[in-house]
Amino acid sequence: MLTSSQQQLLRVISQSGPLSRTDLATSMGLSKAAMSGIARDLISLGVLHETETIYGQGRPSILLDLHPEGAFFVGISLLEDPAAMVLSDFNGSIVARQTMPRSRDPDVIAELIAETLPKLLAEREDAVRKLYGIGIALSGFVDEKQANCVQSTLLGWKDVPLASIVRQKTGIDTFIENDAKAVAVSEKLFGSTRDVQNFSVVSFDDGIGCAHFVGGKLYRGNHGGAGEIAHCTIEPNGSPCRCGKRGCLDTVASMKAIKEMAKAEGLACSSLDDLENEASLGNAAAIRILHRAGNALGLAIAHLIQFNDPGMILITHVEGRFDGLFGTVMRQAAEANVLPRYAGQTPIRNQRVDGDVWARGAASIAAHNFLIGPSPN
Ligand SMILES: [Zn+2]
Repeated sequence: MLTSSQQQLLRVISQSGPLSRTDLATSMGLSKAAMSGIARDLISLGVLHETETIYGQGRPSILLDLHPEGAFFVGISLLEDPAAMVLSDFNGSIVARQTMPRSRDPDVIAELIAETLPKLLAEREDAVRKLYGIGIALSGFVDEKQANCVQSTLLGWKDVPLASIVRQKTGIDTFIENDAKAVAVSEKLFGSTRDVQNFSVVSFDDGIGCAHFVGGKLYRGNHGGAGEIAHCTIEPNGSPCRCGKRGCLDTVASMKAIKEMAKAEGLACSSLDDLENEASLGNAAAIRILHRAGNALGLAIAHLIQFNDPGMILITHVEGRFDGLFGTVMRQAAEANVLPRYAGQTPIRNQRVDGDVWARGAASIAAHNFLIGPSPN
């Protein structure tokens, strides 16, 4: 493992991009000699490298950046069956991919990971000696050490120390994380919120996930449940939710809910795009469903903006367009339900992601621990 000053140097570059030795020393509050010693060690470890030379006034300076092939991380998503297992480089790019059956038995999961890992690493042999960790994303609550699954309805777990079970089986440092929080960490480390200190990520899929970064750190809350907007009541006395309450955001605005509403209306729509097409042709039921869902999501986002005053709301979605009726109503509802002085102040971006979003997020949890150390809190 790295020393804390080595981690600090990598973290500064991870947040700001390539820097000269002089700028790095200033950012870290160190003498240039002390900083250069740390950089030299990291270069010999292979995780840092010299990139371009900048010519300005005075002596030319060489920029230092993370070496994309200097460290690799495994990410596993327990959200789908088969479970995706990816190998990510130090830029967060996926360089190898496998799948394995998903089990609900933690010991079987550890066995399956240990069996599948050699196949994954065979695709990138140079990664074997530069593998610094395994991350696992799952649906449920995870403790702040990213070791113990406190509760997962999907997996039927309560207090399962999955990280240590996998570590024992593989001999590799392992960390687990809630799915939406893993995506937020991935966006902070490698994505579009790299230089944003306060933001919320809303993951829009069959269910709705949400996670917040506050002051540059993942905000977990007291029980690991911060940011679960899916079960905020958005329609009092509305439809029953799988959580036992009624009218949760998930029952109105999740992809699963939208598809169920379409089915109930007798519409043969299997995706958001289908429904948008129907709406654009004037189908009243399709218009009504997209209005109801978009309005509910927009209202929940307005609440997020009121509560946290974030610098950005990023919506990640695997399917669907966000420039149709659904996205337009969602944005209008968000704008209309915040205090006038907040209106238009918070960028609401949407980003289409591929099906590996959860596994990529999981790998970023291992990368985050390599860079920042355990527990982001
Ligand atoms: Zn609910």
